[in-house]
Amino acid sequence: MFAKAMHSTRHPILAQIIPIRRCNLACAYCNEYDAVSPPVPLDEMLRRIDRLAALGTTIITLSGGEPLLHPGLDELIRRIRLRGAIATLITNGYLLTPERIRRLNRAGLDYLQISIDNALPDETSKKSLNVLDKKLQWLAEHAEFSVTINSVLGSSVRNPEDAHRIALRARSLGFSSTAGILHDHSGQLRPLAQPQISVYERILGLGGGLFSFAHYDRFQSNISRGLPNDWHCRAGARFLYICEDGLVHYCSQQRGRPAIPLAQYSPADIDRALQEKKGCAPFCTISCVHQTAMLDSFREQPRETLAAILARRKARDPEFQPPPLVRLLDWMFLRSSSKGWFGKLALRVFGVR
Ligand code: SF4
Ligand code: SF4
Repeated sequence: MFAKAMHSTRHPILAQIIPIRRCNLACAYCNEYDAVSPPVPLDEMLRRIDRLAALGTTIITLSGGEPLLHPGLDELIRRIRLRGAIATLITNGYLLTPERIRRLNRAGLDYLQISIDNALPDETSKKSLNVLDKKLQWLAEHAEFSVTINSVLGSSVRNPEDAHRIALRARSLGFSSTAGILHDHSGQLRPLAQPQISVYERILGLGGGLFSFAHYDRFQSNISRGLPNDWHCRAGARFLYICEDGLVHYCSQQRGRPAIPLAQYSPADIDRALQEKKGCAPFCTISCVHQTAMLDSFREQPRETLAAILARRKARDPEFQPPPLVRLLDWMFLRSSSKGWFGKLALRVFGVR
């Protein structure tokens, strides 16, 4: 994925596709579900996956609504893998059972994410640790794919300490954990209060893989403080959102732009979206689009980006020693004695500056 992202900007890194808009829950802050929609027919979904693969998409995420309500979900995962893309799933977890997890293994799922909003159900959300903990234990026992638990901070979350507890539980089961910040209905920032900022920083302090997005958190740390980010959103090019009607949108919160049928979406549309400046960018909270921007930042400024990741991690943990591969990259690209030669090699291999 990394090498492909470095090689060219003329293909999507990540596409989120909706196989069903219906959800079995009704979270108060959510504008991405309904209670009635039927599943998108399997043949149509397979055609959409083939089209995303033809556009060169590296990661295809099945989202919703609740994607586990789609009767052909395993077939969709198989087709994503067959077409050489990475298959990922975002679910509320309610429908997971040991047998359902084993079916996801057999289908070839690469990665699953569950968002947990609180410790106990309330009127805002029933995505709660005490309801889902058994599902998490089943995942720890049976899943052959990676699992990330996302805990959420924001004004409608009653007890911010829950997010820290959820992150600790995720780590204790061997999963990754991330912290998301709730956005309004156009993907825009709702600044956090001080107790929430402090919980957010404690979650980051739990550490994790060096290249996890948490350690290149310039987006999230500005967002948590209500500050704008200076970045170029490449949604519509490096990130696509495909709704249940098969239309391409910039993201889940900017539906209607550009709303071109996926079957007609072309490299020319990707080029146009790559250049377009989006007015919603400074206060955007859509972290999966930030993550694709982080990869493009590697592509355009590899030395500066790697140096920034190492500096942030060391600022948080002065004892931190990068793993051997990162030390090698550091020597190859950041040390004055070797960086010129390896920089030229990277230019040749990946076409990066
Ligand atoms: S579970 Fe997810 S899709 Fe369903 S209502 Fe809640 S946030 Fe929305
Ligand atoms: S900046 Fe990009 S990702 Fe964020 S809301 Fe706007 S179009 Fe969506």
